Amino acid sequence: MPNPVPEYAPEYAIEIDNLSKIYNKGKKGEKHALKNVSLKIKRGSMFALLGPNGAGKSTLINILAGLVNKTSGDAKIWGHDIIKETRKAKSAIGIVPQELNLDAFFTPEDLLDLQAGLYGVPAAERRTKELLKLVGLEDKAQAYARHLSGGMRRRLMVAKAMVHNPPILVLDEPTAGVDIELRQQLWDNVKKLNKRGVTVLLTTHYLEEAQELCDTIGIINHGELVALENKNDMLGRFDQKEIIATLDHEVKTIPAKLKELNIEIIGTNQVRIIYSPSKTSFDGLLNDLSQSKWVIKDMTTKESDLEDVFLSLTSSKKPSKKKAS
Ligand code: ADP
Repeated sequence: MPNPVPEYAPEYAIEIDNLSKIYNKGKKGEKHALKNVSLKIKRGSMFALLGPNGAGKSTLINILAGLVNKTSGDAKIWGHDIIKETRKAKSAIGIVPQELNLDAFFTPEDLLDLQAGLYGVPAAERRTKELLKLVGLEDKAQAYARHLSGGMRRRLMVAKAMVHNPPILVLDEPTAGVDIELRQQLWDNVKKLNKRGVTVLLTTHYLEEAQELCDTIGIINHGELVALENKNDMLGRFDQKEIIATLDHEVKTIPAKLKELNIEIIGTNQVRIIYSPSKTSFDGLLNDLSQSKWVIKDMTTKESDLEDVFLSLTSSKKPSKKKAS
């Protein structure tokens, strides 16, 4: 299969500048769904747009897909303005929508052929078989779509979005309602495409999905981008680790030697210690603990994960004023 990245390769696969969307503007039910969102997605990256329900994720995707009109601002796909160069912009992107809108009476092979026809892909350049193989459906090529499981249909939708060989794949909540095993299969497929050079943008409200799959994360809340960062930097910003120590005996008070630490008794023989790795070393901590009279039976540590970051940025009811970097 040809490399999906065409020769013209801009630095950014997607550039969004001050994008706003107001539904029902000036009418009853006016809704400011996107508020001056600016973000750039590097070519080749795996980008997660994360946010709670109603945050504006689908609105953003639908503007890129040409299904919703923006109110103001600009967006470029593979360097092409979505309004001034609609055709070029559309040909650079493949969109997997949330709904599984497959015609139940077609086979996967027919569906992909039909879709390729819609995009004007000449018969000789169609890659139906390769695409079905890529998403693990080669043995279902002749099955009716109505006989495919939910996970298979979702993967067929990924193949359908790729028929015109776009360098960018957008997945809107790809694993909503998909069970864990199938989710893993879908993730593997998406990772495979990304390894081949496809830039991936996915929206999700599953933190685990963003953490497992993506290198860059944007967090959107109430239509505002409240964070935009490399995943590891985002997690690193949370300079906090937690240790749960189980002692060999009951603990009633904190020994004087340990009073300096952020330490809390959480059970008859359990304590929680919270520390900043940049200020306190783990070795130093162990040393402090061993100098007290405590006998430690077991110890577990927990690093902050995306959930901590997400909650701290989206938990307030009001839109955050924090500027995206
Ligand atoms: P998400 O995908 O993050 O769940 P959406 O983009 O679907 O969020 O919705 C953002 C906000 O815009 C929500 O408050 C939603 O109710 C509203 N909204 C979405 N589509 C429309 C529409 N066609 N008309 C009016 N309001 C809409």
